[in-house]
Amino acid sequence: KRRIGVMTSGGDAPGMNGAVRAVVRMSIAQNCEAYVILEGYEGLVQGGDMIKEMGWEDVRGFLSEGGTLIGTARCKSFMERPGRLAAAKNMVLKGIDALIICGGDGSLTGADKFRGEWPGLVAELVEKGELTAEQVEPFKHLNIVGLVGSIDNDLSMTDATIGCYSSLGRICESVDYIDATAFSHQRAFVIEVMGRHCGWLALMAGVSTGADFVFIPENPPSDDWEKEMCHIIKQHRDMGKRKTIVIVAEGAIDRNLNKITPSMVKDLLTNQLGLDTRITTLGHVQRGGTACAYDRMLSTLQGAEAVKAVLEATPETPSPVICMIENKIVRRPLLEAVKQTHEVAEAIGAKDFDRAMSLRDAE
Ligand code: ADP
Repeated sequence: KRRIGVMTSGGDAPGMNGAVRAVVRMSIAQNCEAYVILEGYEGLVQGGDMIKEMGWEDVRGFLSEGGTLIGTARCKSFMERPGRLAAAKNMVLKGIDALIICGGDGSLTGADKFRGEWPGLVAELVEKGELTAEQVEPFKHLNIVGLVGSIDNDLSMTDATIGCYSSLGRICESVDYIDATAFSHQRAFVIEVMGRHCGWLALMAGVSTGADFVFIPENPPSDDWEKEMCHIIKQHRDMGKRKTIVIVAEGAIDRNLNKITPSMVKDLLTNQLGLDTRITTLGHVQRGGTACAYDRMLSTLQGAEAVKAVLEATPETPSPVICMIENKIVRRPLLEAVKQTHEVAEAIGAKDFDRAMSLRDAE
C-alpha cells in the first residue's frame, strides 16, 4: 500500500485540522496508508515516533478544533542540507514517498526544494551506508503537494488560503466589541491587525466593519496622508459619528516605505483632532478559535484534492499547490505561486504600488 504523509508547518491557521482530516480519510478511502508528521519539519528531521500512522477514527472531531492538533514549528535544521538528509532517511524508513504540506510560502518552498534534492539525498544515504540500495529502490521520487494554510491570505494564485476567513471573522467580531465601547465614550481606536506583508485582512476588515481609514502595505496613502486622514475623520465626526476606527495592517508603510505604526496614528488623532484615542493590538486572538464554515469546507475539499494530486503525479509534473479560483478547487504549479507571491513584495520594495495591487487583484 502506498503511504502518504501529511504535516502542518509555519504559522498555525484555523482549518489546518480539517485539511489533515481530509488527507487522512481520503488516503484511506483510496486504499493508501495515512501518516501524520508531528511538529512540522521538526518531526520529519527527528523521525521515529514523530511520524505516526493514522486510522479513520484518529481524526474524528478534527473539523471543529482550532489551531493544528498535530503541531507546527519553525524548523531551522530543515533549512540546511544535513537536516533534509535526516528527513529523507526517516521517510524511507517509514516507507513514505508522498508528502502533503499545509503551510505558508516558506513551508511550500522548502518542500519543493526537498523534492528537487531527493534523488541526491537518497544516493548519499546509500553511499554513506545509512540505507541499502534495496531499501531506497522503491523511493526514487518524492511527491510533494501543497495546501496553503495561512490566516494572511498572502499566497498568489488562490482566492483564499485556509484560515483567512476564520481570522477575518474574528477580527470583525473584535472590532464590533470595540465599536460598542468606542461609541459609548465617543473614542477613537487604532486597531492593528495581522497579515505580515499582506493587507488583505486589514482591507477586508475595514470594508466589513465600516472603518474610517485603513492602512495596507500594497497601497500606501498619499505623501500627505496625515492631513488626508485627519480631514476624512473630521468629516465623519462632523456628520455626527460618535466613534472612529482606524485599521493598521502590521506591514503598513508610507510611499517611502517607512513604517506607519498605530502610535503614529494615535498621536495624530489625539493632537490634531483632540480625540480620546486608544490602541488595540488584536494579536493572537486572530489565529485562535475554531474554523469558520468556509475554512472547514475549503480545507476538506482541498485536502481530498491533494490526495488525488499525489495519486496522479508523475516524476515530470511540477509540484502542485491546491488553490481556490473563482469558487473552484484547482491545481497550480507550486513554485509559480510562490514566485508570484514574492513578486508582490518586490513590487512594494520597488515602490511600484500599482503593480503590487494588480498582482494581488490577479489572484
Ligand atoms: P510559512 O510556511 O508560514 O511561510 P516559514 O517561512 O517560517 O513559515 O517556514 C516554515 C518552515 O519551513 C521553516 O521553519 C523551515 O523549516 C521550512 N522552510 C522555509 N523556507 C525554507 C527553505 N527555503 N528551504 C528549506 N526549508 C524551508
